[in-house]
Amino acid sequence: MKHTILVTGGTGYIGSWVTKGLLENGHTVRLTVRDKSKPEKFAFLTEIANDSPGTLEIWEADLMKAGSFDAPAKGADLIAHLASPFILNVKDPQRDLIDPAVKGTENVLSAANHSGTVKKVVLTSSVAAIHGDNVDMENMGLEEFTEAQFNTSSSLNHQPYSYSKVMAEKRAWEIANAQSDWQLVVMNPAFVMGPSLTTQSKSESLKLVTDLLTGKFKSGAPELYFGFVDVRDIAKAHIYGLEHTAEGRHILSNQVASFLDMSKVISKKYGNTYKLPKSFAPKWLLSLIGGLFGVTRMFVKNNVGYHLKLNNNKSKTALKMEYIPFETTVIDMVEQMRAQKII
Ligand code: NDP
Repeated sequence: MKHTILVTGGTGYIGSWVTKGLLENGHTVRLTVRDKSKPEKFAFLTEIANDSPGTLEIWEADLMKAGSFDAPAKGADLIAHLASPFILNVKDPQRDLIDPAVKGTENVLSAANHSGTVKKVVLTSSVAAIHGDNVDMENMGLEEFTEAQFNTSSSLNHQPYSYSKVMAEKRAWEIANAQSDWQLVVMNPAFVMGPSLTTQSKSESLKLVTDLLTGKFKSGAPELYFGFVDVRDIAKAHIYGLEHTAEGRHILSNQVASFLDMSKVISKKYGNTYKLPKSFAPKWLLSLIGGLFGVTRMFVKNNVGYHLKLNNNKSKTALKMEYIPFETTVIDMVEQMRAQKII
């Protein structure tokens, strides 16, 4: 069945893979951009659309403009809401993260309410809406995180990006539960990596790997564990959730690893080409100089050295996920950055 799908954030790192997959499957994608007069943001998607059976429509909307998603939602039967800033270093967390995440979600879901046509919304939340600091697992007496948990440790002043994601997802469930016209399905990706289709994204995914390859951690990496997942798998999960029956939340994570694990994969293939870390930096040192890396003492205290386990069973059964191996994800990403002369 072919659908008309409003995609927000479709110009971004993850969203462009979602848009590509939907066009390849023959759907009509209503891509919202903030400014139609900046074709450099979406020209690559127009090219992809020209070679695909699907149709790409460009609409203008902004997360912070109430009502701006109403027109593109009218006549659409599905919405994929990915737009939200993924930036860790911000001046004003309320203005730069929380407002676009929460008010943006309200505006997009209000457009679903007004449309009269939308039957399902797939929302890109994050594992950051499931847990905050890695120490939370121990503090909550858990062996692993599942879809049953919500992040309770992030706030406006501590891990504000994670706070923006948990506040936006909670608001989405409130709005969804207050109506019966459309269904909400939530994706909770871990840290996303893999090749980028866009050169315009400011996503932290691209920044982190660039930092690693250009020597930011050359004298020692923080012992931080993240769930990692391939961007192409995240797109597949979204597309599955749009095209098939799905319900509730979904942790999307392939494996938990550290920066050092990532560095080992890179140095195995590229030898000493990059100034990669060879050991973990001591925690006490990070507490002192964390500011240089844009992290607070509290972040170091509650995250460095703490292990993490994310249960991805539901994604494998409900969304039929078969994850791309971590090594492939890392190497494909480095290859794309080399090809585009980013590193
Ligand atoms: P990108 O920065 O690449 O994409 C963000 C998208 O949101 C862009 O298309 C951007 O548009 C759009 N956007 C931002 N602010 C606004 C606004 N005010 N109005 C309209 N559109 C706006 O990030 P990612 O692709 O990495 O992230 C996409 C989603 O996935 C986010 O919701 C993020 O929280 C979530 N996520 C990301 C993870 C990751 O590791 N990358 C992990 C888990 C969740 P523009 O091009 O105009 O800037």
